[in-house]
Amino acid sequence: MAPRVSVQKPPNIELLEFPEKQSLNWSTTLVLVLLHIGAVAALFMFSWANLAVLLFLLWFATGLGISMGYHRLHTHRSYQVPLALEYLFAVCGALTFEGGPIFWVATHRIHHQKSDMPGDPHSPHDGGWWAHAGWILMGEAKHNNTRLMSKYAPDLAKHRFYVWLNNYHWLPNVLLAGLLFAIGGVSMVLWGVALRVVVGLHATWLVNSATHMWGSRRFNTRDDSRNSWWVALITFGEGWHNNHHAHPTSARHGLAWYEIDMSWIQIRVLEFFGVAKAVKVAKIDSALLERDAA
Ligand SMILES: [Zn+2]
Ligand SMILES: [Zn+2]
Repeated sequence: MAPRVSVQKPPNIELLEFPEKQSLNWSTTLVLVLLHIGAVAALFMFSWANLAVLLFLLWFATGLGISMGYHRLHTHRSYQVPLALEYLFAVCGALTFEGGPIFWVATHRIHHQKSDMPGDPHSPHDGGWWAHAGWILMGEAKHNNTRLMSKYAPDLAKHRFYVWLNNYHWLPNVLLAGLLFAIGGVSMVLWGVALRVVVGLHATWLVNSATHMWGSRRFNTRDDSRNSWWVALITFGEGWHNNHHAHPTSARHGLAWYEIDMSWIQIRVLEFFGVAKAVKVAKIDSALLERDAA
C-alpha cells in the first residue's frame, strides 16, 4: 500500500490582490447602511449624557483601538506594552467595526507595501470615493478569512486570542449595545454605537482618502501621502500621514511641536509610567521642521 502523504496547499495569495472587478458586498453594505440610518436617528435624540458617551467611546475605540492599537502597535510595532494591554487595545479596535485585528493589520501592511500602486487596497488613484469607502463596500468578504489574512500578520496569528477576535470582531459591539441599552435605552445605543461608529469610520477613512489627496508633503515619499492638520485633529494624530509614510515605524507621527498628535502624547504618558517600552521615534533634521514652520 502506498504511504499516505498529506499535501498542504499553499494559501491563495492572489485573493489578496484586490482585483478591479468586484461586486457589492451585501452584508457589509447592509450593516453600514443600517448604522448610517441609526446615526441620523440619533441626532433627534440629543442629550448631554449621550454626547458624553459618544465622545468617550470615540476616544476608547478609534483613539486607543485604531490609532494606538491596530495602527501604531499591532501593525507597525512602534512601541511595546504588556500583552494584556495589547489585547485590550485590540478589543477597542474591534469596537470601531473596522474588522478584526488580523484583517486590519494585513490590509494596512499591504497598503504600505504598495501605496498608490497597483495592489494598494485603497488608493485615490482608483477614485476618491473608492479610497474612502468603496473598497470596503465592494471588497470580498475577507474579514473572516483569518487563515488567508494571517499570512500578512503572522505575529498576530500566533495568538489564539487574536484569531478568535478576528472571527468574532462584531461581538464587543453587541455586548456594548446591550450595556448601553440597560443604562440609557435606545437613544444611548444609537449615540454610543451607531453615531459613534459612523463618525469613527469616516474619520479613519479620511486617512485613506483625504491624506492621500490633500495637504502638504514634507517628505518626498514614493506615494502621494500628505500631512493634514484637520484630519489629524479628528483621528488622534493619524492625519500626519506623509510623516508616517516616510517613517512608518515611528510611534510619533506629528513630528514638529505644532503638529498635534494625541496618540503620541498618550504613548509618552504610558512611557513615563513605564508601561510603554521600546518606543521608536523618527530622527529627523530639526532644520527641516523649522523650514516647514516658516
Ligand atoms: Zn497611506
Ligand atoms: Zn501605517
